[in-house]
Amino acid sequence: MSYEFHGAHLIAGQRRSTEATFRSSPAEGPGADFSVGTPALVDEACAAAKAAAQGFAATTREQRAALLEAIADQIDARGDAITACGSAETGLPPARLQGERARTTGQLRLFASHIRAGDYLDRRHDPALPDRAPLPRPDLRMMQRPVGPVAVFGASNFPLAFSVAGGDTAAALAAGCPVVVKGHSAHPGTGEIVGDAVVAAIEALGMDPGIFSLVQGGRRDVGEALVTDPRIKAVGFTGSLTGGRALFNLCAARPEPIPFFGELGSVNPMFVLPEACAARGAAIGAGWAASLAMGAGQFCTNPGIAIVIDGPEADAFVDAAEKALAAVPAQVMLTDGMATAFHDGAKRVGSAAGVATRLADTAEGRTARPHLFEVTAADWLADHALAEEVFGPLGLVIRVRDADQMLEIARSFVGQLTATLQLDDGDVEMARPLMPVLEAMAGRVLANGFPTGVEVSDTMVHGGPYPASTNFGATSVGTLSIRRFLRPVCYQNLPAALLPADLV
Ligand code: NAP
Repeated sequence: MSYEFHGAHLIAGQRRSTEATFRSSPAEGPGADFSVGTPALVDEACAAAKAAAQGFAATTREQRAALLEAIADQIDARGDAITACGSAETGLPPARLQGERARTTGQLRLFASHIRAGDYLDRRHDPALPDRAPLPRPDLRMMQRPVGPVAVFGASNFPLAFSVAGGDTAAALAAGCPVVVKGHSAHPGTGEIVGDAVVAAIEALGMDPGIFSLVQGGRRDVGEALVTDPRIKAVGFTGSLTGGRALFNLCAARPEPIPFFGELGSVNPMFVLPEACAARGAAIGAGWAASLAMGAGQFCTNPGIAIVIDGPEADAFVDAAEKALAAVPAQVMLTDGMATAFHDGAKRVGSAAGVATRLADTAEGRTARPHLFEVTAADWLADHALAEEVFGPLGLVIRVRDADQMLEIARSFVGQLTATLQLDDGDVEMARPLMPVLEAMAGRVLANGFPTGVEVSDTMVHGGPYPASTNFGATSVGTLSIRRFLRPVCYQNLPAALLPADLV
């Protein structure tokens, strides 16, 4: 990596370092030294965020929209360095980093236009009814207001779109909430460059530097200090079920509990209905394989489990998936730890009772190649561990007897980010009883496509019942995600002079 890292934290616009450093562990190159985060730095960042919160909440929507656009511009200005560093740190190809940067700046700009439009404020007015009997009604107005400082945990698998200036940060700043980011130690250099871009945008616009801080990782007590700091009012997190649950529990146990918006694990089941399977089973199998293997399978929307009615059509589907997966070369995984977890998880699935191996990974170290397994419905239902996410390119086919057993399997899933139907016109009646089950299970139900590739838009829901997320009422992708960092306030009989500008 040719970029010169300063290796410091960014606390309210200031570069701050501690004595201890950790060395990044890039997929390529020697790595660099970064200052280790500490609870004392978290304390400073939270103090600055609290001091800035009231002023930031009072900024106009136009001022915040300009900030989001300036951050996007500053990120674009550092595009080449971000691509080079991000690719070296994560092992993801440069084209993926370029695409993810476009998504990141695109969502910053989308939030700018979203808050300019103002609909997100959900402004309501019940005019006074002074003559109403038996009691008059007061004048009532309602609007969404920012919650205060928000903690954001950068995700390992989206070093840009869900990290320092990713969706959580964009939504919080758009809402008018200062942000304290806990950088992910898998990509500290990428985080640093993006953090510098955010600071430059804040400086250029003369805004309060306390609205943004980045504390690099390195130690568990950084994340713990952040979610338990009384000045933090909400948390955005993408990561593991174990880590997310631990931090969620800390949020719930605070003297003042706060919402923890965790986007955790999902196996994203795909139901292949019989007419579709008969008509185009091989094409569905090849498409599924491409979705499973994309980005070494390191997507929360990876469709890890396919359910299909047993028979020759199912054979065609599985054969095509196996052929396509066998041709996928070894891919570098995001971290050594994730590669180890993947290899261990695949061993666990492959050695479970009743599981047949169609394709086994031959890669080693930090690389992975796809695995493909099959199991009967009875064996799958008997082993809950088979329903756990294995983060990486791993597919498990559940062969069912008939439509009733497919429905039984559908009912057995815990909360998911997505559920997919592959169906043709003749499958619609069979799909009808599945629909309420899938709606209850998942944040997004899709047909004849694959769930990887999440559109950032007004209608997107990237969330779902636990354990897909810790808050089923929210999404972490799309403009609706701003609602996580807002709360409704009702103004009763307030004189216009005291109402927020957006209400008058
Ligand atoms: P992670 O281990 O949950 O870590 C995410 C962030 O939370 C990191 O900043 C981590 O800090 C922090 N953290 C985790 N546990 C903590 C605790 N008990 N106390 C304080 N801070 C804590 O997730 P990851 O590193 O991204 O990946 C590990 C696994 O997560 C993967 O193998 C995969 O299974 C899963 N994952 C799932 C998704 C998804 O979208 N569903 C996305 C990414 C990863 P430190 O790094 O400093 O420990």
